[in-house]
Amino acid sequence: MSYTALYRKFRPDNFADVKGQDHIVTTLTNQINASRIGHAYLFCGTRGTGKTTVAKILAKAVNCQHPVNGSPCNECEMCRAIQAGTSMNVIEIDAASNNGVDNIREIREEVTYRPTEGNYKVYIIDEVHMLSTGAFNALLKTLEEPPSYVIFILATTEAHKIPITILSRCQRYDFHRISIDTIADRLTELLHAEGVEAEEKAVRYVAKAGDGSMRDALSLLDQCIAFYLGQTLTYDKVLEVLGAVDTEVFSKLLRKVLTGDVTAAIRILEELIVGGRELSQFVGDFTWYMRNLLLVKTSDNPEEAIDVSSENLRLLKEESEMTDIDTLMRYIRVFSELSNQIRFATQKRVLVEIALIKLCRPAMETNLDSVLDRIRVLEQRIDERPVQQVVVRSGDESVTEMRKEPVVPPQKAAPEDLQKIVAGWKVIVGQTTAAFKQALLQSVPKYNGETGEPVLYVEFQTPLGRLYPDDSDAKKELQEIIEKQLGKSIELHMLVAEDHQQTNLSQITVDQAIRENIHMDVQIEEEPGSHLED
Ligand SMILES: [Zn+2]
Repeated sequence: MSYTALYRKFRPDNFADVKGQDHIVTTLTNQINASRIGHAYLFCGTRGTGKTTVAKILAKAVNCQHPVNGSPCNECEMCRAIQAGTSMNVIEIDAASNNGVDNIREIREEVTYRPTEGNYKVYIIDEVHMLSTGAFNALLKTLEEPPSYVIFILATTEAHKIPITILSRCQRYDFHRISIDTIADRLTELLHAEGVEAEEKAVRYVAKAGDGSMRDALSLLDQCIAFYLGQTLTYDKVLEVLGAVDTEVFSKLLRKVLTGDVTAAIRILEELIVGGRELSQFVGDFTWYMRNLLLVKTSDNPEEAIDVSSENLRLLKEESEMTDIDTLMRYIRVFSELSNQIRFATQKRVLVEIALIKLCRPAMETNLDSVLDRIRVLEQRIDERPVQQVVVRSGDESVTEMRKEPVVPPQKAAPEDLQKIVAGWKVIVGQTTAAFKQALLQSVPKYNGETGEPVLYVEFQTPLGRLYPDDSDAKKELQEIIEKQLGKSIELHMLVAEDHQQTNLSQITVDQAIRENIHMDVQIEEEPGSHLED
């Protein structure tokens, strides 16, 4: 599967094609037209919003021999050399891997030489927040007295990590998360150019899943196209590839639950299973749906708190009138508990059925004889798991004995911090971006049961996770969300289940007391883009 094909192929090569960042494009073209070009720019914003793309267009525009309206012509020698990556005038540096003083000193020596052709030497330093303190100091010296022919473009996802001394020398541009409409329009354009037919609803779903990042949306679209090469891309196919369930189904299901119609609710579940939907993801998505409903119920202007189409919002409002806050809280509680259990269960379907019955029959929560019977069957199955060899140390001698693989608890209880993370896992995953979120939805947070150290292992259960163990951006993103949620940082490793058969990794069980405190911590979603504004 060619993963970033569309993104590479259709990277904008002039300002007019940059989508969703009009405020930035306008200012930059005005500067170029008026020949009032700055020497240091800081581009901030979430990944996939166009920072490096704009940096490259700017580098071409200032060197172009025949700029058109502030945009590069893309035809002259300079434009073509920069486009091909052969020009000495544009130097791209990834600060994530070149973050030392020496790297910056090298730049300082280089900038003393004028460009041999073209007007400007442009240094694009990506992930600039990764520079060491020494490197920042060295960079500052250059920024204080930049030669007239040098432009620095610093790009970062984390402006707050840039020293104030650097900030004060830069023109700062905040790249917004891109709206669903803008992404959908762009996807439609590209599909047209590729000759791929697609339903509007399908495109919108992918745009929404992109979560403000054009790059993520294009990656997801790539996956969908690759899966159904040569076919019309329908809404159903998109849901299938992304393993998601149509929100209409949630609406239908919730209405059955509210009327206490167990049979109809179970039948909807049956249809989902027949349709090949992934139950763990369904549980997570339905919890999210009810969380949206709760926001509609409690918020004065829910349009701003949640991101759904006006059609879906109308349904949500209707449903919010049909229920009360306590009931919704109970529903969310039942389903959050379920989402913790279901990942490791062999009988996922039974567990979901039980949860649906609980929702439909509140009284049954204390009178669940038949259901408890089914759970007993499940517990028996767990007890019948294979026997494992365990070495027990007593004094100086090691005694080897055969014992059943302990299910709960493992050798050492999971550290409390990890339990808290797991209790709030849905909320954490819910805050990650697009493609990464899709992979995380099918991951299991684990810990080393042997050492009991406070290190979180995120084990991806599907090949979708293969992209992430080496993705430092993604790791950082997840780490920061956890830090925000937990109030402290935690060491984190990502791995793919089938690659690492590490037996010492265990699932994290959550103490009831911790769960009670954490799982209702429903977060209000920020309006896209708002958190990038100062
Ligand atoms: Zn040109």
